[in-house]
Amino acid sequence: MTHSPGSRILVVEDETKLAQLLADYLVAAGFAADCLGDGREVVPWVRAHSPDLIVLDVMLPGRDGLELCKDIRAFSRVPIIMATARAEEIDRLLGLELGADDYICKPYSPREVVARVKAVLRRMLPADPAADTSSDLILDEAGYRIRFKGAEVELTAVEFQLFAALYREPGRIYSRGQLMDRIYNDQRIVSDRTIDSHIKKLRKKLAELRPDEELIHSVYGAGYRYEVARDPITR
Ligand code: CA
Repeated sequence: MTHSPGSRILVVEDETKLAQLLADYLVAAGFAADCLGDGREVVPWVRAHSPDLIVLDVMLPGRDGLELCKDIRAFSRVPIIMATARAEEIDRLLGLELGADDYICKPYSPREVVARVKAVLRRMLPADPAADTSSDLILDEAGYRIRFKGAEVELTAVEFQLFAALYREPGRIYSRGQLMDRIYNDQRIVSDRTIDSHIKKLRKKLAELRPDEELIHSVYGAGYRYEVARDPITR
C-alpha cells in the first residue's frame, strides 16, 4: 500500500446510500472516510478538518460541486476527484480548469473509486524514482524513440508527442481536444477519430515494449491517461 495508512477521505455525495457504500469500501481499503450531503457544509468542514482527499459530486443540494471545487482551491491543494452523472460533461469540466485532480463518471463502482483515490494519492507523493516502474522508460526526444530495458520502439513524430504529453503527467486525463492542441499547433482541423487512430498505433508499439502492461488508458467519455498500475487492486 503506497498511501499513508489512515488517509482521511471526504465523500461529498447527497445520495446517502451511495455515500455510505463508498465510505464502507474506503474504510475496507484502510482509509478513514467522512460523508457530507449538503454543499453548504463542505467548505467549513474542509477548513476545520483538512482531509487528505475529497470525492466531490457535481450535483448537490445547497451549492454545486463546481463552485465548491473553486472555493476549496482558493485555500487548499487537497486532491479532489469530481464525480458526475454525465460522461459527456467531463470534457466540459476539463475545459473549465477547476483545479480538480481527476474525474469519474457515475454510476461508478466503489472499487473503481477506491482505485482512483489510491492513484491520485500516489501522484501526490514526492517522486520516488526507485519505486516508479515507469521510470524505466526512456524517451529519446531527438530520435522519437522509447526504450525499455534494452528494447526500443520507433514512433512517428505525432505518436511521440502524444505519448510525451500523457507520460509527463501520469494520471492526468487529457481530452482528445487537449491532445490535438498539443500536437497540432497550426489549428488544422482534425477529427477525434484521428487522435484515436494515433493512440491505437501507439498502444500497439508500446505493447511490444511492455506486453504485460496497459500504459495508455481510455477514460470513457473523457479522453486518455497514462498510468502504470503498481498495485494489483488498481488494475
Ligand atoms: Ca448528486
